[in-house]
Amino acid sequence: MTRLKAKLAKSPNPFGKALFAILTKDHLSEADWEDVEDTLLKADVGAEASEQLVDQLRSDARVKGEKDPQAVHAMLREKLLDLVDTGQDRSLVATRPGAAKPSVVIMVGVNGTGKTTTAGKLARLFVADGKSVVMGAADTFRAAAADQLETWGSKVGVPVVRSEREGADPASVAFEASQQAKDTDADLLIVDTAGRLQNKANLMDELGKIRRVVEKNLPVDEVLLVLDATTGQNGMIQAKVFAEAIGITGIVLTKLDGSAKGGIVVSVQRELGVPVKLVGLGEGPDDLAPFNPGSFVDGILG
Ligand code: GDP
Repeated sequence: MTRLKAKLAKSPNPFGKALFAILTKDHLSEADWEDVEDTLLKADVGAEASEQLVDQLRSDARVKGEKDPQAVHAMLREKLLDLVDTGQDRSLVATRPGAAKPSVVIMVGVNGTGKTTTAGKLARLFVADGKSVVMGAADTFRAAAADQLETWGSKVGVPVVRSEREGADPASVAFEASQQAKDTDADLLIVDTAGRLQNKANLMDELGKIRRVVEKNLPVDEVLLVLDATTGQNGMIQAKVFAEAIGITGIVLTKLDGSAKGGIVVSVQRELGVPVKLVGLGEGPDDLAPFNPGSFVDGILG
């Protein structure tokens, strides 16, 4: 069993169980199909995708005649996989052949989603692969954010560029970090940013400026949006704001260990057109994994 599947299997997962129970009934009534759709909605698959999936299952003559639970399971798996696996490249730009060095990743997302934690875990992944990493604490709004990134830096053995002054210009911290990454010939620069959504114009200004100043030194290869899987469709609203503010190349879905609502993967990929690249499966340094559609669907269906 994969790590993702093992983790998801541990979480209460009414989603797969409910679908399976309904679809293996002798006769599927109109109400049963509605239940299937409701179950998908509850799992955050999103209205449009849920409707599409149910329509496909309904019109699939095989489902109506099929009594073998294994076969129904296989059909359901196939349909879900069609929704989850968009065929996009889920690799991090920094890991691709010919990637720029230092490669730059900017982390964005609402505070509390797990941005700083993910930055630390991401650094750890690269360090474990023998790569050198620099992190920049461009969330200068709260001193605690830089402290937290610094703690991660020491935990995973990565230098952190920060300002001691709360409220310092985030772009200048990001610039210094890019300078250090360049001077030390690091493989990767990870820039952590603040995620206050109260004022969209400010957010756009701030993230835009961070990007521009870093680009004076190095091309920005990747902007990862960190989304908390437990926030459900609310996360979608946030995601759209960030996508508009800076443009994103991939999504990290965190706290999947504590949620049966992984269906957000489907809606977020559909709405933003970018793939989920990584998933957060806990609070520890090794709790970050590449997103694998097959294991993910298997995890949902149990
Ligand atoms: P930030 O404000 O976006 O930088 O969020 P933090 O990195 O400070 O994370 C907020 C909280 O979520 C912390 O308590 C983290 O330990 C926790 N967290 C982050 N990622 C995960 C995850 O994948 N699973 C779980 N269970 N908790 C997580």
